[in-house]
Amino acid sequence: LTGTEQSTRVGLFGGSFDPIHLGHVATVRAAQRELGLDRVIYLPTARPPHKPERKFASARSRFAMVEIALLDHEDLQVSPFELTPDRSAYTIDTVRHFQKTQPEVDFVLLIGGDSFAQLDRWKSWNEIVERVRIGVLVRPGWRIEQVSDTMNPELLALAQGGAVDFVEDEPMAVSSTDLRRRFAQDLEIPSDALSPAVLKYVRKYSLYR
Ligand code: ATP
Repeated sequence: LTGTEQSTRVGLFGGSFDPIHLGHVATVRAAQRELGLDRVIYLPTARPPHKPERKFASARSRFAMVEIALLDHEDLQVSPFELTPDRSAYTIDTVRHFQKTQPEVDFVLLIGGDSFAQLDRWKSWNEIVERVRIGVLVRPGWRIEQVSDTMNPELLALAQGGAVDFVEDEPMAVSSTDLRRRFAQDLEIPSDALSPAVLKYVRKYSLYR
């Protein structure tokens, strides 16, 4: 070892992906460039703890869509670890699991700016931030100070102390909520919103009708 060799860095990116769209790929690509991630693992979650009342396409369908959207991207992968249909999945369990099974890898947790501001509500959030670096995906110009009034002081100190990487990226003008609405109302789907294979899959099974 020369001492300059770097360990493999892998991003973990959880979400509902209901459905996965090209914004979910673009933002991860930006994070990958800025944080030097060799791979990113998408984790479709069966039942997000913070959206308990929402109706979703089935966990299997969302998993399948993530897989087919990422099929041509060798370094973007999908894991079924958070597909726990009978209970909510907790990020701390995911982090522990990946660190245990791949101890040689340096994991980075990718989350949106809004989620980060509420990280102190997550189960064992202190342990999460001890275990992994956090890559926060934010709009250009977004500053932690804009939400500091409502933030946990400990979390704020962490962010201001450099324990967190902020990745600035202009979000694509596409959202899963809007896509579900368009499918339900049989409206046009913008051509740059979805991978063509995902579009076929949604139509094949009338997922959002
Ligand atoms: P919904 O509209 O169903 O609430 P969502 O895209 O906001 O969907 P998730 O599917 O859980 O929610 O997305 C995971 C993460 O992807 C979000 O927390 C956000 O950081 C990021 N993301 C979502 N949409 C975009 C976008 N258009 N551009 C960049 N990043 C995005």
